[in-house]
Amino acid sequence: MNSSLHAYASLMLEHALAGIALYDAQDLGLRAANELYLTIITTYFKPSCEHEDVFQHSFTNWLPETKVSEHENIFRTVARTGVPYREGIYVFRTQEGNLIHWTWSLKAIQNQEGHTTHLLQTVSEVPIEALSPQQAEPVQAAPEKTTRIIEAERRQLEVITAVENSVHEPLHAESIGTAALDALSASFHPLGVCLHTTDPVQQAFHLLGVSVSTEHEHIFEGLQYVPYHSSIFLAQAHVQHEALFLEDLHAARATGVIAQDDPLVAEGVQSALCVPLWFGDQCEGALTVVFAEHVLAHDPEVRALKGCGMHIAAALAHARLHAIVENERTRLRAILDQLPEGILITEGSSGVISYANPSAERLLGIPLANLVGTPLDRQLQAQAKTEQQEQSMPPWNFAIVRALSGETVNTQETQVKQPDGNTVVTLCSSAPLFSVQGTLTGAVLVFQDITAQKSLEQHKNDFLSMINHELRTPITAIQGFAELLQMNASHQQQMAFARSQRALQQISEQSHYLTSLIEDMLDISRIEQAHFTVRQTPQDVLRLLTSVVETQATTTKRHHLKLLVQGVETTKSLIGNIDAERFVQVFNNLISNAIKYSPAGGEIEIGLRPIVEPHKPHEVLIWVKDQGIGIAPEELTHIFKRFHRANTLDASITGLGIGLYLVKEIVTRHGGRVWVESDEGSGSTFYVLMPL
Ligand code: ADP
Repeated sequence: MNSSLHAYASLMLEHALAGIALYDAQDLGLRAANELYLTIITTYFKPSCEHEDVFQHSFTNWLPETKVSEHENIFRTVARTGVPYREGIYVFRTQEGNLIHWTWSLKAIQNQEGHTTHLLQTVSEVPIEALSPQQAEPVQAAPEKTTRIIEAERRQLEVITAVENSVHEPLHAESIGTAALDALSASFHPLGVCLHTTDPVQQAFHLLGVSVSTEHEHIFEGLQYVPYHSSIFLAQAHVQHEALFLEDLHAARATGVIAQDDPLVAEGVQSALCVPLWFGDQCEGALTVVFAEHVLAHDPEVRALKGCGMHIAAALAHARLHAIVENERTRLRAILDQLPEGILITEGSSGVISYANPSAERLLGIPLANLVGTPLDRQLQAQAKTEQQEQSMPPWNFAIVRALSGETVNTQETQVKQPDGNTVVTLCSSAPLFSVQGTLTGAVLVFQDITAQKSLEQHKNDFLSMINHELRTPITAIQGFAELLQMNASHQQQMAFARSQRALQQISEQSHYLTSLIEDMLDISRIEQAHFTVRQTPQDVLRLLTSVVETQATTTKRHHLKLLVQGVETTKSLIGNIDAERFVQVFNNLISNAIKYSPAGGEIEIGLRPIVEPHKPHEVLIWVKDQGIGIAPEELTHIFKRFHRANTLDASITGLGIGLYLVKEIVTRHGGRVWVESDEGSGSTFYVLMPL
């Protein structure tokens, strides 16, 4: 080596305006590179690359995946043949978004035996003027081809940018398809281009969109639905897992390379390219491009279009996965929205409630809009304001806080105080939520409304203590009167005879009362076991009611029972299809209640009026009106429930709270309706409307 070159070689290399690199011809490892070459790698190829990732390594470490195999081919060919390569082009986008172009060449360095030991790559920037045919002379080496390659790379970048941008839009395959088709047509001006998506269930391609002039629309008409096993070009490309290109479609058909009836073989179409859109091991669809002119397989446009395929595949895969996640999310949400249990999900980082279902809204008495998106502590403040008091933390909040600290709370009975003062009893469970990596991300809280069960339990307990009292009273009376009879039997006197008569009367009455209590209880169990039936036969309703009133009149001296019959003569009959025994039970109950709940006595009106309307079956309205203690407004909706007795009742008025429940059951089973109107303190009227 010339001594002055030796002395200055490294200085020259470091300051050369070209990037220069020396590769080993065997393992393609980088042995040496000047500063500019390293700058190109770390500025445009892989900013994260360190020097130790570069030296001794091959370009796979920094080149984009799409370029690796192409480079490897070129490098190996130059190493094998020794023929220099001068057609390399890199197109980069600067930070400002401008495109810059670099050409690169590769030269073999041989030893004395003529074996290639190294490869020298030189990369130099192409001045912008060189790219514009109007402003400058074409680039020196292979000018036309270089410009075409650069142009194709530029268009590929345009398409990639358009596809990338469409991915930031709503993630739908359709919008990605439209963006890709528009960009492909605008950049490459093919005769037509179409995109398919795959349907793994039907094992077929579906046409997603086309971009073609109206006069050439027919080219893609037969491609709406293409089964994987079809013989046409698109399906072949799918089977072969790689892009297929036909330079001359008509020749290909003549030689049987493609099917005679392939829709792409149309007038005006010269060449066709079909790129299956593989992403990993999943085929997302296919890109088909047809050209009016004769295009060659190694033309830069064809290479650029193949390059676009990978990006469209990635975007479609992204959209598909997004759709799967969205569907799952929607399904899960629909399930949670329908659950009768209240559900709250709280975020670990912010304490914000990120989800609440309608049941949670109902149970907590807080509108969803106020629940979702608000941090827990703000919920507390809101509650404190509504309750006008120093609010201690509501118990359900404790459950969330415990879950947020990693604890699981199981079915804890918790009272939820709603803002309007209502209290709901719930079983509350909470659990922490963890990410796949095991980090605590939030907490879920589940409430189950057990207010009804709780109140039924309470009613049952009350009922048992009432039974205890109700049964004891008549039994004590029966025992007392029986003992009196025994005593009388020993000294038969006139006075004693009268007492015996009264005692017998009492025994009979109390026994009847006991029997009716037992019957009522049996009826309840019959209803529960679905054995409770009504046997309807034609009966004279007026006669039955009159007889009930007469019987009930004998049970009281302090009340005056008045039967008021309207719209039918008392001597006539009013026939209805009813169960006579149950009918009597209903009015015995209503009239005895009227007597029981009018401790001060007074008139009790029992009224009857047939209701005859055109086009409707005849009905009868019967009412029982007393002047007793009446019913508080808040009790009106509850008194027909099983075991319910008004809270305000005087303890001396006894009962089991099942009479009205049975009345309602019987009337409803006759297809009728029962309701009550009442003024607390001045009496109640019970109405029964029954079809005849
Ligand atoms: P019970 O009379 O054995 O308590 P019912 O089922 O017959 O049971 O009645 C349920 C409740 O309805 C009663 O406890 C009472 O509070 C109320 N009630 C029923 N009838 C009347 C009435 N005529 N006047 C006032 N309250 C009534």
